Amino acid sequence: MSPTPAILTLDQGTTGTTALVVSGDGRVLGRAYSEFTQHFPKAGWVEHDADEIRDVTVRVARQALEAARNRESFRTEGIGITNQRETVVLWDRETGRPVHRAIVWQDRRSAKVCRELREAGREGEVRKRTGLLLDPYFSGTKLTWLFREHPELRRRAEAGELACGTIDSWLIHAFTGGRVHATDPTNASRTLLYDLRSGEWEDDLLELFEVPPGILPEIRSSSGDFGMADGEILGVEAPICGVAGDQQAALFGQGCWREGLAKNTYGTGAFVLLHTGDEPVHSEHGLVTTVACNAEGGRAFALEASIFIAGAAIQWLRDQLELLPSAPESEAMAQSLQGNDGVYMVPAFVGLGAPHWNPEVKGAILGLTRGTGKSHLVRAALEAMAYQTQDALDAMEADSGVAAKELRVDGGAAENDWLMSFQAGISDLPVRRPALVETTALGAAGLAGIQVGVWEGADQFLAARGEPQIFRASMGNKEREVLRSGWSRALAAVRAFEDPGEQGPHESG
Ligand code: ADP
Repeated sequence: MSPTPAILTLDQGTTGTTALVVSGDGRVLGRAYSEFTQHFPKAGWVEHDADEIRDVTVRVARQALEAARNRESFRTEGIGITNQRETVVLWDRETGRPVHRAIVWQDRRSAKVCRELREAGREGEVRKRTGLLLDPYFSGTKLTWLFREHPELRRRAEAGELACGTIDSWLIHAFTGGRVHATDPTNASRTLLYDLRSGEWEDDLLELFEVPPGILPEIRSSSGDFGMADGEILGVEAPICGVAGDQQAALFGQGCWREGLAKNTYGTGAFVLLHTGDEPVHSEHGLVTTVACNAEGGRAFALEASIFIAGAAIQWLRDQLELLPSAPESEAMAQSLQGNDGVYMVPAFVGLGAPHWNPEVKGAILGLTRGTGKSHLVRAALEAMAYQTQDALDAMEADSGVAAKELRVDGGAAENDWLMSFQAGISDLPVRRPALVETTALGAAGLAGIQVGVWEGADQFLAARGEPQIFRASMGNKEREVLRSGWSRALAAVRAFEDPGEQGPHESG
Protein backbone atom coordinates (compact mmCIF):
# COMPACT_ATOMS: atom_id res chain seq x y z
CA MET A 1 0.00 0.00 0.00
CA SER A 2 1.22 3.49 -0.75
CA PRO A 3 1.82 5.69 2.28
CA THR A 4 -1.14 7.78 3.51
CA PRO A 5 -0.79 11.49 2.63
CA ALA A 6 -0.72 13.56 5.81
CA ILE A 7 -0.08 17.01 7.24
CA LEU A 8 1.97 17.80 10.34
CA THR A 9 0.22 20.64 12.14
CA LEU A 10 1.64 22.62 15.05
CA ASP A 11 -0.49 24.70 17.41
CA GLN A 12 1.91 26.85 19.39
CA GLY A 13 -0.33 28.21 22.18
CA THR A 14 0.22 30.46 25.18
CA THR A 15 0.81 27.69 27.69
CA GLY A 16 1.75 24.74 25.49
CA THR A 17 2.30 23.38 21.99
CA THR A 18 0.15 20.67 20.37
CA ALA A 19 1.35 18.68 17.36
CA LEU A 20 -1.00 16.53 15.27
CA VAL A 21 -0.37 14.37 12.24
CA VAL A 22 -3.63 14.50 10.27
CA SER A 23 -4.32 12.14 7.37
CA GLY A 24 -6.07 13.14 4.18
CA ASP A 25 -9.16 11.21 5.29
CA GLY A 26 -9.34 13.29 8.47
CA ARG A 27 -7.89 10.92 11.06
CA VAL A 28 -5.38 11.98 13.71
CA LEU A 29 -2.49 9.54 13.20
CA GLY A 30 -0.27 10.97 15.92
CA ARG A 31 -0.55 13.53 18.66
CA ALA A 32 1.70 15.15 21.28
CA TYR A 33 1.45 18.08 23.66
CA SER A 34 3.83 19.81 26.02
CA GLU A 35 3.63 22.85 28.26
CA PHE A 36 6.50 25.30 28.60
CA THR A 37 7.70 27.92 31.10
CA GLN A 38 5.82 31.15 31.77
CA HIS A 39 7.95 34.02 33.06
CA PHE A 40 6.39 36.79 35.17
CA PRO A 41 9.32 39.11 35.91
CA LYS A 42 7.16 41.98 37.23
CA ALA A 43 3.49 42.66 37.95
CA GLY A 44 1.67 42.78 34.62
CA TRP A 45 4.62 41.40 32.64
CA VAL A 46 4.47 38.03 30.84
CA GLU A 47 7.44 36.64 28.90
CA HIS A 48 8.36 33.44 27.06
CA ASP A 49 11.78 32.09 26.18
CA ALA A 50 11.67 31.87 22.36
CA ASP A 51 14.40 29.20 22.32
CA GLU A 52 12.31 27.08 24.68
CA ILE A 53 9.23 27.58 22.45
CA ARG A 54 11.24 26.36 19.46
CA ASP A 55 12.63 23.36 21.38
CA VAL A 56 9.24 22.35 22.81
CA THR A 57 7.63 22.65 19.38
CA VAL A 58 10.34 20.54 17.76
CA ARG A 59 9.98 17.94 20.53
CA VAL A 60 6.20 17.55 20.20
CA ALA A 61 6.49 17.50 16.39
CA ARG A 62 8.97 14.62 16.60
CA GLN A 63 6.80 12.79 19.16
CA ALA A 64 3.64 13.13 17.05
CA LEU A 65 5.51 11.94 13.94
CA GLU A 66 6.88 8.97 15.90
CA ALA A 67 3.41 8.06 17.21
CA ALA A 68 2.01 8.26 13.68
CA ARG A 69 4.84 6.13 12.28
CA ASN A 70 4.07 3.45 14.85
CA ARG A 71 0.50 3.41 13.64
CA GLU A 72 0.78 3.35 9.86
CA SER A 73 2.89 4.29 6.91
CA PHE A 74 2.34 7.93 5.91
CA ARG A 75 4.05 10.72 3.99
CA THR A 76 4.19 14.28 5.38
CA GLU A 77 3.09 16.39 2.40
CA GLY A 78 3.14 19.69 4.23
CA ILE A 79 3.36 21.50 7.53
CA GLY A 80 0.83 23.88 9.09
CA ILE A 81 1.65 26.37 11.84
CA THR A 82 -0.83 28.21 14.03
CA ASN A 83 0.19 30.29 16.98
CA GLN A 84 -0.57 32.47 19.97
CA ARG A 85 -0.98 35.86 18.33
CA GLU A 86 0.56 39.29 19.07
CA THR A 87 3.52 37.88 21.05
CA VAL A 88 6.74 39.35 19.64
CA VAL A 89 10.27 37.95 19.26
CA LEU A 90 13.40 39.91 18.30
CA TRP A 91 16.43 37.95 17.14
CA ASP A 92 19.93 38.34 15.74
CA ARG A 93 19.95 37.66 11.98
CA GLU A 94 23.54 36.38 12.11
CA THR A 95 23.32 33.91 14.99
CA GLY A 96 19.55 33.25 14.86
CA ARG A 97 19.43 33.75 18.65
CA PRO A 98 16.77 35.87 20.39
CA VAL A 99 18.11 39.12 21.84
CA HIS A 100 15.26 39.53 24.34
CA ARG A 101 12.60 37.30 25.86
CA ALA A 102 9.39 37.16 23.81
CA ILE A 103 6.85 39.68 25.12
CA VAL A 104 3.55 37.83 25.38
CA TRP A 105 0.15 39.17 24.27
CA GLN A 106 -1.04 39.24 27.91
CA ASP A 107 1.80 41.59 28.91
CA ARG A 108 0.59 45.06 30.00
CA ARG A 109 3.96 46.87 30.14
CA SER A 110 3.15 49.15 27.21
CA ALA A 111 0.02 50.62 28.84
CA LYS A 112 1.84 53.97 29.19
CA VAL A 113 2.78 54.04 25.50
CA CYS A 114 -0.88 53.38 24.64
CA ARG A 115 -2.03 56.16 26.95
CA GLU A 116 0.44 58.63 25.43
CA LEU A 117 -0.70 57.86 21.89
CA ARG A 118 -4.33 58.06 22.91
CA GLU A 119 -3.77 61.42 24.58
CA ALA A 120 -2.01 62.58 21.43
CA GLY A 121 -5.30 61.85 19.62
CA ARG A 122 -3.97 59.00 17.47
CA GLU A 123 -6.53 56.30 18.26
CA GLY A 124 -9.11 57.18 15.60
CA GLU A 125 -6.59 56.97 12.80
CA VAL A 126 -5.03 53.78 14.18
CA ARG A 127 -8.46 52.15 14.44
CA LYS A 128 -9.31 53.09 10.89
CA ARG A 129 -6.04 51.88 9.40
CA THR A 130 -5.42 48.73 11.44
CA GLY A 131 -8.87 47.76 12.77
CA LEU A 132 -7.36 47.53 16.27
CA LEU A 133 -7.41 49.55 19.49
CA LEU A 134 -4.50 51.23 21.24
CA ASP A 135 -4.19 48.49 23.82
CA PRO A 136 -1.02 46.74 25.11
CA TYR A 137 -2.60 43.47 23.88
CA PHE A 138 -1.41 44.13 20.29
CA SER A 139 2.25 43.85 19.23
CA GLY A 140 3.10 47.40 18.09
CA THR A 141 3.46 49.11 21.44
CA LYS A 142 5.41 46.16 22.83
CA LEU A 143 8.04 47.01 20.20
CA THR A 144 7.85 50.71 21.06
CA TRP A 145 8.64 49.75 24.65
CA LEU A 146 11.52 47.43 23.65
CA PHE A 147 13.28 50.00 21.49
CA ARG A 148 12.74 52.84 23.98
CA GLU A 149 14.11 50.79 26.87
CA HIS A 150 17.01 49.28 24.92
CA PRO A 151 18.70 51.89 22.70
CA GLU A 152 21.41 49.35 21.79
CA LEU A 153 18.71 47.15 20.21
CA ARG A 154 17.46 50.15 18.24
CA ARG A 155 20.98 50.83 17.00
CA ARG A 156 21.43 47.19 15.99
CA ALA A 157 17.99 47.06 14.34
CA GLU A 158 18.78 50.21 12.35
CA ALA A 159 22.09 48.63 11.27
CA GLY A 160 20.10 45.68 9.84
CA GLU A 161 21.43 43.19 12.39
CA LEU A 162 18.06 42.21 13.93
CA ALA A 163 14.87 40.55 12.73
CA CYS A 164 11.48 40.66 14.38
CA GLY A 165 8.33 38.62 14.14
CA THR A 166 5.38 37.01 15.86
CA ILE A 167 5.69 33.35 16.94
CA ASP A 168 4.82 32.04 13.45
CA SER A 169 7.79 33.95 11.96
CA TRP A 170 10.08 32.76 14.71
CA LEU A 171 9.18 29.11 14.09
CA ILE A 172 9.41 29.46 10.30
CA HIS A 173 12.85 31.01 10.75
CA ALA A 174 13.87 28.19 13.11
CA PHE A 175 12.53 25.31 11.00
CA THR A 176 14.04 26.61 7.75
CA GLY A 177 17.45 27.00 9.38
CA GLY A 178 17.18 30.80 9.16
CA ARG A 179 16.49 30.88 5.40
CA VAL A 180 12.96 32.31 5.53
CA HIS A 181 11.74 35.41 7.39
CA ALA A 182 8.00 35.51 6.70
CA THR A 183 4.58 35.84 8.27
CA ASP A 184 0.97 35.63 7.06
CA PRO A 185 -1.71 38.34 6.87
CA THR A 186 -3.73 37.05 9.85
CA ASN A 187 -0.74 37.41 12.17
CA ALA A 188 0.36 40.68 10.54
CA SER A 189 -3.08 42.15 11.17
CA ARG A 190 -2.56 41.91 14.97
CA THR A 191 0.55 44.10 15.13
CA LEU A 192 -0.78 47.68 14.65
CA LEU A 193 1.82 48.05 11.85
CA TYR A 194 -0.26 46.52 9.05
CA ASP A 195 -2.79 48.51 7.06
CA LEU A 196 -5.97 46.51 6.44
CA ARG A 197 -6.66 48.14 3.07
CA SER A 198 -3.19 48.00 1.53
CA GLY A 199 -2.34 44.63 3.06
CA GLU A 200 1.21 45.87 3.75
CA TRP A 201 3.38 47.13 6.55
CA GLU A 202 3.13 50.91 6.34
CA ASP A 203 6.06 53.26 6.98
CA ASP A 204 3.96 55.85 8.79
CA LEU A 205 2.62 53.22 11.19
CA LEU A 206 6.18 51.99 11.82
CA GLU A 207 7.15 55.60 12.49
CA LEU A 208 4.21 56.15 14.84
CA PHE A 209 5.21 53.11 16.91
CA GLU A 210 8.94 53.95 16.61
CA VAL A 211 9.74 50.63 14.94
CA PRO A 212 12.95 50.68 12.86
CA PRO A 213 12.24 49.79 9.20
CA GLY A 214 13.64 46.59 7.75
CA ILE A 215 13.14 44.33 10.75
CA LEU A 216 9.73 42.96 9.79
CA PRO A 217 9.03 39.71 7.93
CA GLU A 218 7.77 39.40 4.38
CA ILE A 219 3.98 38.84 4.29
CA ARG A 220 2.92 35.70 2.36
CA SER A 221 -0.48 34.12 1.82
CA SER A 222 -1.76 31.95 4.73
CA SER A 223 -2.01 29.04 2.34
CA GLY A 224 1.29 29.55 0.57
CA ASP A 225 5.01 28.91 0.40
CA PHE A 226 6.95 29.48 3.62
CA GLY A 227 9.98 27.41 2.61
CA MET A 228 11.12 23.89 3.31
CA ALA A 229 11.44 22.66 6.89
CA ASP A 230 14.87 21.18 7.48
CA GLY A 231 14.65 17.45 8.28
CA GLU A 232 17.66 17.69 10.60
CA ILE A 233 15.83 20.27 12.71
CA LEU A 234 12.19 19.19 12.70
CA GLY A 235 12.56 15.48 12.02
CA VAL A 236 10.81 15.72 8.66
CA GLU A 237 11.59 17.55 5.44
CA ALA A 238 8.41 19.07 4.04
CA PRO A 239 7.12 22.45 2.87
CA ILE A 240 5.66 24.82 5.46
CA CYS A 241 2.53 25.82 3.54
CA GLY A 242 -0.24 26.80 6.00
CA VAL A 243 0.17 29.61 8.54
CA ALA A 244 -2.45 31.52 10.55
CA GLY A 245 -2.98 33.07 13.97
CA ASP A 246 -4.85 30.77 16.37
CA GLN A 247 -8.33 32.36 16.20
CA GLN A 248 -8.26 32.72 12.44
CA ALA A 249 -7.02 29.12 12.11
CA ALA A 250 -9.95 28.00 14.29
CA LEU A 251 -12.32 30.03 12.09
CA PHE A 252 -10.96 28.26 9.02
CA GLY A 253 -10.93 24.88 10.81
CA GLN A 254 -14.64 25.39 11.53
CA GLY A 255 -15.33 25.92 7.84
CA CYS A 256 -16.15 29.60 8.38
CA TRP A 257 -14.64 30.92 5.16
CA ARG A 258 -17.64 32.91 3.91
CA GLU A 259 -19.53 35.98 5.00
CA GLY A 260 -22.02 35.37 7.81
CA LEU A 261 -20.35 32.30 9.34
CA ALA A 262 -19.33 32.63 12.99
CA LYS A 263 -17.47 30.57 15.56
CA ASN A 264 -16.86 30.83 19.27
CA THR A 265 -13.98 29.24 21.13
CA TYR A 266 -14.87 28.72 24.80
CA GLY A 267 -11.57 28.39 26.66
CA THR A 268 -10.15 30.37 29.56
CA GLY A 269 -11.58 33.38 27.74
CA ALA A 270 -13.75 33.21 24.66
CA PHE A 271 -13.13 34.44 21.13
CA VAL A 272 -16.08 35.09 18.85
CA LEU A 273 -15.29 35.71 15.18
CA LEU A 274 -17.73 36.52 12.39
CA HIS A 275 -16.49 36.21 8.82
CA THR A 276 -17.43 39.38 6.94
CA GLY A 277 -16.25 38.48 3.43
CA ASP A 278 -13.88 40.45 1.22
CA GLU A 279 -14.28 43.86 2.81
CA PRO A 280 -13.14 44.97 6.25
CA VAL A 281 -16.03 46.12 8.43
CA HIS A 282 -15.16 48.88 10.87
CA SER A 283 -16.70 48.49 14.28
CA GLU A 284 -18.68 51.11 16.12
CA HIS A 285 -19.51 48.60 18.85
CA GLY A 286 -16.21 47.72 20.49
CA LEU A 287 -15.04 44.92 18.20
CA VAL A 288 -11.78 44.65 16.32
CA THR A 289 -11.45 44.13 12.58
CA THR A 290 -9.03 41.42 11.66
CA VAL A 291 -7.79 39.51 8.63
CA ALA A 292 -9.25 36.02 8.14
CA CYS A 293 -9.01 33.46 5.33
CA ASN A 294 -11.29 32.68 2.43
CA ALA A 295 -11.87 29.15 1.11
CA GLU A 296 -8.61 29.30 -0.85
CA GLY A 297 -6.64 30.46 2.20
CA GLY A 298 -6.46 33.96 0.68
CA ARG A 299 -7.17 37.22 2.48
CA ALA A 300 -10.65 37.99 3.80
CA PHE A 301 -11.92 39.78 6.92
CA ALA A 302 -13.65 39.12 10.21
CA LEU A 303 -14.98 40.97 13.20
CA GLU A 304 -13.61 39.69 16.46
CA ALA A 305 -14.69 39.93 20.09
CA SER A 306 -12.34 38.92 22.89
CA ILE A 307 -14.17 37.90 26.06
CA PHE A 308 -11.61 37.81 28.86
CA ILE A 309 -13.31 35.42 31.30
CA ALA A 310 -15.33 32.41 30.11
CA GLY A 311 -14.25 28.94 31.36
CA ALA A 312 -12.03 30.76 33.86
CA ALA A 313 -15.14 31.57 35.93
CA ILE A 314 -15.72 27.82 36.34
CA GLN A 315 -12.05 27.42 37.26
CA TRP A 316 -12.50 30.12 39.89
CA LEU A 317 -15.54 28.39 41.41
CA ARG A 318 -13.60 25.13 41.39
CA ASP A 319 -10.22 26.33 42.72
CA GLN A 320 -10.89 29.43 44.83
CA LEU A 321 -14.37 28.66 46.18
CA GLU A 322 -14.06 24.85 45.92
CA LEU A 323 -17.71 24.56 44.90
CA LEU A 324 -17.19 21.74 42.44
CA PRO A 325 -14.59 19.01 42.00
CA SER A 326 -14.02 19.40 38.26
CA ALA A 327 -15.09 21.67 35.40
CA PRO A 328 -17.17 18.96 33.63
CA GLU A 329 -19.18 18.53 36.87
CA SER A 330 -20.70 21.96 36.17
CA GLU A 331 -22.95 20.37 33.55
CA ALA A 332 -24.89 18.15 35.99
CA MET A 333 -25.07 20.96 38.56
CA ALA A 334 -26.62 23.40 36.08
CA GLN A 335 -28.94 20.70 34.81
CA SER A 336 -30.18 19.97 38.35
CA LEU A 337 -32.03 23.31 38.45
CA GLN A 338 -35.25 24.17 36.63
CA GLY A 339 -34.10 27.76 36.11
CA ASN A 340 -31.56 30.29 37.37
CA ASP A 341 -33.95 31.61 40.09
CA GLY A 342 -32.78 35.13 39.29
CA VAL A 343 -29.09 34.54 40.12
CA TYR A 344 -26.57 36.16 37.74
CA MET A 345 -22.79 36.35 37.71
CA VAL A 346 -20.85 39.06 35.88
CA PRO A 347 -17.36 37.53 35.70
CA ALA A 348 -15.55 40.85 35.20
CA PHE A 349 -12.47 39.65 37.12
CA VAL A 350 -10.14 41.60 34.82
CA GLY A 351 -12.65 44.18 33.62
CA LEU A 352 -14.82 43.46 30.60
CA GLY A 353 -13.51 42.96 27.07
CA ALA A 354 -15.51 43.26 23.87
CA PRO A 355 -17.98 44.71 23.28
CA HIS A 356 -18.01 46.58 26.61
CA TRP A 357 -14.26 47.40 26.96
CA ASN A 358 -14.33 48.47 30.52
CA PRO A 359 -10.98 47.63 32.15
CA GLU A 360 -11.91 48.88 35.64
CA VAL A 361 -15.30 47.28 36.33
CA LYS A 362 -15.19 44.42 38.87
CA GLY A 363 -17.12 41.13 38.98
CA ALA A 364 -20.29 40.43 40.96
CA ILE A 365 -22.87 37.79 41.81
CA LEU A 366 -26.40 39.21 42.02
CA GLY A 367 -29.85 38.03 43.03
CA LEU A 368 -28.89 35.95 46.09
CA THR A 369 -31.56 34.58 48.46
CA ARG A 370 -31.56 32.01 51.28
CA GLY A 371 -32.48 29.45 48.64
CA THR A 372 -29.32 30.07 46.58
CA GLY A 373 -27.02 27.06 46.47
CA LYS A 374 -23.77 26.00 44.83
CA SER A 375 -25.56 24.93 41.68
CA HIS A 376 -26.98 28.42 41.21
CA LEU A 377 -23.50 29.93 41.22
CA VAL A 378 -22.19 27.31 38.82
CA ARG A 379 -25.15 27.78 36.52
CA ALA A 380 -24.70 31.56 36.66
CA ALA A 381 -21.04 31.18 35.57
CA LEU A 382 -22.08 28.99 32.62
CA GLU A 383 -24.93 31.30 31.68
CA ALA A 384 -22.52 34.26 31.71
CA MET A 385 -20.50 32.63 28.90
CA ALA A 386 -23.64 32.47 26.78
CA TYR A 387 -24.76 36.05 27.53
CA GLN A 388 -21.31 37.46 26.77
CA THR A 389 -21.24 35.50 23.51
CA GLN A 390 -24.65 36.84 22.55
CA ASP A 391 -23.59 40.43 23.37
CA ALA A 392 -20.67 39.91 20.97
CA LEU A 393 -22.95 38.49 18.24
CA ASP A 394 -25.33 41.43 18.66
CA ALA A 395 -22.44 43.90 18.30
CA MET A 396 -21.32 42.04 15.17
CA GLU A 397 -24.75 42.22 13.64
CA ALA A 398 -25.03 45.93 14.47
CA ASP A 399 -21.64 46.61 12.83
CA SER A 400 -21.92 44.42 9.76
CA GLY A 401 -25.66 44.15 9.17
CA VAL A 402 -25.02 40.41 8.96
CA ALA A 403 -26.78 38.09 11.38
CA ALA A 404 -25.06 34.76 12.02
CA LYS A 405 -27.18 31.82 10.90
CA GLU A 406 -25.55 29.37 13.24
CA LEU A 407 -22.75 29.34 15.77
CA ARG A 408 -19.88 26.89 15.41
CA VAL A 409 -18.18 26.09 18.69
CA ASP A 410 -14.96 24.65 20.08
CA GLY A 411 -12.65 24.98 23.12
CA GLY A 412 -12.71 23.15 26.47
CA ALA A 413 -16.03 24.48 27.76
CA ALA A 414 -17.79 23.63 24.47
CA GLU A 415 -17.73 20.04 25.77
CA ASN A 416 -20.52 21.08 28.15
CA ASP A 417 -23.81 19.96 26.55
CA TRP A 418 -25.97 21.99 28.94
CA LEU A 419 -24.04 25.16 28.06
CA MET A 420 -24.34 24.46 24.33
CA SER A 421 -28.14 23.98 24.60
CA PHE A 422 -28.42 27.13 26.70
CA GLN A 423 -26.34 29.05 24.13
CA ALA A 424 -28.62 27.81 21.34
CA GLY A 425 -31.60 29.06 23.37
CA ILE A 426 -30.16 32.48 24.26
CA SER A 427 -28.90 33.08 20.72
CA ASP A 428 -31.91 31.44 19.06
CA LEU A 429 -29.45 29.78 16.70
CA PRO A 430 -28.32 26.25 15.99
CA VAL A 431 -25.02 25.58 17.77
CA ARG A 432 -22.75 23.22 15.88
CA ARG A 433 -19.97 21.31 17.61
CA PRO A 434 -17.52 19.35 15.42
CA ALA A 435 -16.53 15.78 16.22
CA LEU A 436 -12.88 16.81 16.65
CA VAL A 437 -12.70 20.00 18.71
CA GLU A 438 -9.02 20.77 18.00
CA THR A 439 -10.16 23.18 15.31
CA THR A 440 -7.16 25.50 15.67
CA ALA A 441 -4.63 22.82 14.75
CA LEU A 442 -7.02 21.44 12.11
CA GLY A 443 -7.43 24.88 10.55
CA ALA A 444 -3.68 25.18 10.02
CA ALA A 445 -3.68 21.62 8.65
CA GLY A 446 -6.45 22.62 6.23
CA LEU A 447 -4.57 25.70 5.02
CA ALA A 448 -1.46 23.58 4.44
CA GLY A 449 -3.31 20.62 2.93
CA ILE A 450 -5.22 22.60 0.31
CA GLN A 451 -1.95 24.21 -0.77
CA VAL A 452 -0.21 20.87 -1.47
CA GLY A 453 -3.26 18.99 -2.74
CA VAL A 454 -3.93 16.67 0.23
CA TRP A 455 -7.43 18.15 -0.07
CA GLU A 456 -8.68 19.46 -3.40
CA GLY A 457 -10.29 22.40 -1.70
CA ALA A 458 -11.71 23.68 1.54
CA ASP A 459 -14.99 21.77 1.10
CA GLN A 460 -13.19 18.47 0.71
CA PHE A 461 -11.13 19.28 3.81
CA LEU A 462 -14.32 19.91 5.79
CA ALA A 463 -15.98 16.76 4.45
CA ALA A 464 -13.08 14.71 5.82
CA ARG A 465 -14.14 15.70 9.34
CA GLY A 466 -16.59 13.58 11.35
CA GLU A 467 -20.27 14.42 11.83
CA PRO A 468 -20.87 17.50 13.98
CA GLN A 469 -23.37 17.56 16.83
CA ILE A 470 -26.07 20.22 16.50
CA PHE A 471 -27.80 21.82 19.49
CA ARG A 472 -31.09 23.49 18.60
CA ALA A 473 -32.86 26.31 20.39
CA SER A 474 -35.72 25.10 22.54
CA MET A 475 -36.17 28.26 24.62
CA GLY A 476 -39.30 30.37 24.25
CA ASN A 477 -39.07 34.08 23.38
CA LYS A 478 -40.46 35.10 26.74
CA GLU A 479 -37.89 33.10 28.68
CA ARG A 480 -35.07 34.48 26.51
CA GLU A 481 -36.25 38.03 27.13
CA VAL A 482 -36.47 37.53 30.88
CA LEU A 483 -32.98 36.01 31.05
CA ARG A 484 -31.34 38.64 28.85
CA SER A 485 -33.02 41.41 30.76
CA GLY A 486 -31.62 39.94 33.99
CA TRP A 487 -28.13 39.89 32.48
CA SER A 488 -28.46 43.51 31.29
CA ARG A 489 -29.50 44.62 34.76
CA ALA A 490 -26.57 42.70 36.27
CA LEU A 491 -24.22 44.53 33.87
CA ALA A 492 -25.78 47.85 34.81
CA ALA A 493 -25.32 46.97 38.49
CA VAL A 494 -21.58 46.32 38.18
CA ARG A 495 -21.19 49.55 36.25
CA ALA A 496 -23.04 51.42 38.99
CA PHE A 497 -20.67 49.90 41.56
CA GLU A 498 -17.58 51.09 39.69
CA ASP A 499 -15.41 53.61 41.52
CA PRO A 500 -15.78 56.83 39.50
CA GLY A 501 -12.11 57.65 40.16
CA GLU A 502 -11.03 54.52 38.27
CA GLN A 503 -12.70 54.99 34.89
CA GLY A 504 -10.71 53.38 32.13
CA PRO A 505 -9.75 54.68 28.71
CA HIS A 506 -12.02 52.34 26.77
CA GLU A 507 -15.11 53.07 28.75
CA SER A 508 -18.05 52.93 26.39
CA GLY A 509 -21.57 54.20 26.67
P1 ADP B 1 -7.38 27.29 27.03
O1 ADP B 1 -7.02 26.80 25.66
O2 ADP B 1 -7.81 28.71 27.12
O3 ADP B 1 -6.39 26.92 28.10
P2 ADP B 1 -9.38 25.16 27.01
O4 ADP B 1 -9.96 25.24 25.66
O5 ADP B 1 -8.48 24.00 27.34
O6 ADP B 1 -8.73 26.52 27.45
O7 ADP B 1 -10.61 25.16 28.05
C1 ADP B 1 -10.37 25.15 29.42
C2 ADP B 1 -11.40 26.03 30.13
O8 ADP B 1 -12.70 25.48 29.93
C3 ADP B 1 -11.16 26.08 31.62
O9 ADP B 1 -11.34 27.42 32.02
C4 ADP B 1 -12.25 25.19 32.22
O10 ADP B 1 -12.73 25.73 33.45
C5 ADP B 1 -13.33 25.21 31.18
N1 ADP B 1 -14.00 23.91 31.03
C6 ADP B 1 -13.44 22.75 30.65
N2 ADP B 1 -14.37 21.77 30.58
C7 ADP B 1 -15.55 22.34 30.91
C8 ADP B 1 -16.90 21.86 31.01
N3 ADP B 1 -17.21 20.60 30.72
N4 ADP B 1 -17.84 22.76 31.37
C9 ADP B 1 -17.54 24.04 31.63
N5 ADP B 1 -16.29 24.54 31.55
C10 ADP B 1 -15.32 23.70 31.19
